[in-house]
Parts: sequence; structure tokens; C-alpha cells
Amino acid sequence: MAIPLSQMWTVASYVVTQKLKGRKRYPLVLMLEPLFRCNLACAGCGKIQYPAHILKAELTPEECFKAVDECGTPMVSIPGGEPLLHPKMPEIVQGLVDRKKYVYMCTNALLLKEKLHLFKPSKYLSFSVHIDGEREHHDFGVCREGGYDIAMDGVRAAIAAGFRVTTNTTLFDGADPNSVRRHFDQLTEAGVEGIMLSPGYTYDKAPDQKHFLGRARSRKLFRSILSNRKSTWQFNASPIFLEFLMGKRELTCTPWGMPTYSIFGWQKPCYLLQDGYADTFAELMESVEWSNYGTESGNPRCANCMVHSGYEASGVNYTFGSFKGMAQTIKAILFDSHKDEQANKLLNDWRPASNHEHLVQIGSGFASREAEVVNHEESLVSGD
Ligand code: SF4
Repeated sequence: MAIPLSQMWTVASYVVTQKLKGRKRYPLVLMLEPLFRCNLACAGCGKIQYPAHILKAELTPEECFKAVDECGTPMVSIPGGEPLLHPKMPEIVQGLVDRKKYVYMCTNALLLKEKLHLFKPSKYLSFSVHIDGEREHHDFGVCREGGYDIAMDGVRAAIAAGFRVTTNTTLFDGADPNSVRRHFDQLTEAGVEGIMLSPGYTYDKAPDQKHFLGRARSRKLFRSILSNRKSTWQFNASPIFLEFLMGKRELTCTPWGMPTYSIFGWQKPCYLLQDGYADTFAELMESVEWSNYGTESGNPRCANCMVHSGYEASGVNYTFGSFKGMAQTIKAILFDSHKDEQANKLLNDWRPASNHEHLVQIGSGFASREAEVVNHEESLVSGD
């Protein structure tokens, strides 16, 4: 587990305080989306298909601070869109650091190296770099040749400048578990503090609808990747959440655990679904019929979901919910290497579905996709 002690202590104190106060539902990480526009157009993304006037809109630093103060989480994740395209991102990040919030600024790192000087290293700030696998797999996933090399360059530059750097890997059907394990080796060698990983969610707006993982396939994939793991790999995730991904335990979704605030307001009910918006965090918590969500609710949009934003908070809640939860978490961190012969067999037996079956296949490949990105960026500039 790579999370620094001071952060663990802050989160543990926060969760225990919520429990002592008898709060049944409390948020853990604010997902703050200050903009939706991006300098990539990944095929598995459900965030960048908005019309140009929405893609041009941004939250102000004051709106960001108000949302953070309203919900009171100890951690703030800043996804998007690409946060580094927001002209006031350094001011937003500094304002959160001044509030002693642990900030994960998510980025595809295309602009990280050139914008690094706008930020100050702090124990409260991590760059969470989106890298979906080894070079070929990442470049195909983000539909940009050379994307992996730029991202890894950004990772190394940020680490060299004294920043905390974590990574964020989303896996889709067809992912090669052997390649993912090599990817972990490469990230470890580069010096990243922790790796976060999650199956992709079936966004109905995403261009590629064929390669999202069902629950059974997710468990098989994560079992093969995370069993027999190397002691050098550090994960930026609850060990209980990782066991859930591997199919070693059940968790129920905690959709309020990572509430989302964007230019539209507080998103109901979770980071992935958009069933309306609330004006305030209190209204979000009161107005959502929470029993309608989560896999066990029977909601078809939740049926296959095992995504980090729904279940990481469930893992943390399990840890602090009882002595048993705490003991199992300590065991998972310190003593469990997850030895599993069957998982080794899964690794050895893995074959690609076909030689050309990658994550996505859109248009005629990179060239057409890059042309789409350029057109998309031009339309942002022209306002069309
Ligand atoms: S199961 Fe997934 S999609 Fe459904 S509420 Fe939870 S996080 Fe959202």
C-alpha cells in the first residue's frame, strides 16, 4: 500500500469520526470536474461527447472551493476532461492544498511536463496520470500514437521535480493480463508511488460499446493480474477493493462515497450515471433514492459495474466498519501475496481473441481519429 501515513491517518480519522457521529452515508472523495474538454478523444470515454458550448464551460476556482467546503471530504480527485486545459488549474489546486485536502489531479500528461512549473510539490498533491497499459495498448486506447511516451516522460519529469505521482489504469475486455503485469513493472521502475486500476464502465455515450467487461470477465481478468503479485508493486487502492475486483469478496456499491460536482451541479447519483443534478450537496444526499442504485438494486445500468468510483469507498467503509474489517485489511496489506496456481494458469493460457482484436477499432485508425480530435479542438476554438 503506497499511501503515505499522514494521508492514511487523515482518512482513518475522518471515517471514524463519521461513524462516531452515526452518519450512515458520508462522502470520502469529491470528484471535482471543473471542465469536460480534453486534448484526447478516447473511445471508452463517456465525458467528452458534449456540444461545444458545454466543452468550453469551466468551473471558477471559487465554485470549486465552495463544493469542497460543502461536502467536506478529506480527498479531492480532479478528473475531467483534461484538468491541465483549465487556465486556473494551478490556482484551484493550490486553494485545495491550502485547505489541507489530499488532491489527485488526474491528467493524460500530454501537457504535464510543460505545465509542471505552475505547481508546487506538496504531500497534499499527487498527479494521477492516466496510462492504460504498455505502449501499444495505451496508444490504441487513447487513440493517439506516441501518447504513452509523452505520458511516461511527464511521469518521470514530475517525479524528478519532487511531486507525488500515481497512475490510473482502466481495463477493458481483451486486455492482456501478462501485458498489464509488465506495465506494473514499468510503472514501478519509473518510481510511481501507487497504481490505481479499475474496469471501464459501460458509458452509453462512449464510441466503443463492444469492449466493456461484464462482472465475471472482470473478476477473471483481475484475478489473473493481481494474484501472485510482486512485492514491489504498490497500489493506490484499498486492498479490500482489490480483493473485490479479484472475486475474493462481495461489496455493495457506495454511490455517495465519491460524489461528483461539475458545471451542471451535484450529479445524481454517482460519477457514472446522470439522473439529474442537485444545487447543493445536502440536496443531493436527500433527494436521491439510493436504494434504486447498486448491482443488488436490479438497476440494469448497475448490473456490470465494478468501478472504482462506486466500490473503493465501500472497501474503505468495510475496513473501518469492524475489528474484523480492520484485521482483514491489515492481513491483506502485510501478509497476503495472493498465491493462486489457477491464476498462473490463466496467465499462461491467455490468448488474444484475434490478432487484430484490440480495445477499439474506430474509423480507419489513428489518422482518422486524430483528424476527429483536431476538428473537435478547432470547433472549441471557433465555438461551433
Ligand atoms: S453500481 Fe456503478 S453505476 Fe450503479 S450507482 Fe454504483 S457506481 Fe453508479
